Amino acid sequence: MSDCLFCKMAAGEVDVPRVAENAAAFAIRDINPRAPVHALIIPRRHIGWARDLGMEDGATLGAMFELATEAADIEGVAESGYRLAFNVGEAAGMTISHLHLHLVGGRPLGPEG
Ligand SMILES: [Zn+2]
Repeated sequence: MSDCLFCKMAAGEVDVPRVAENAAAFAIRDINPRAPVHALIIPRRHIGWARDLGMEDGATLGAMFELATEAADIEGVAESGYRLAFNVGEAAGMTISHLHLHLVGGRPLGPEG
């Protein structure tokens, strides 16, 4: 996993401002935001993509969703609403092969925005 950008961020080898973090995950702002608010919730442990998830990942996923709620509060979209999404595969725009949950908001999103 030495060439995985998110693993390097998790290990502190790549320094990036964090919106929030907890024991299992950290949140950063997307460098190419698709909306006024666009954060990524990233597990510290390398998980390839959503298709690799199983029952054993329940605690990690719970921690990611707790962090998403905290990040939504910090980013100011808790009241207006926001979207949480996993992109799976190339057609969905998945560009980094380390699981990450997108938190998008700050504008009307529409059904698929
Ligand atoms: Zn990784």
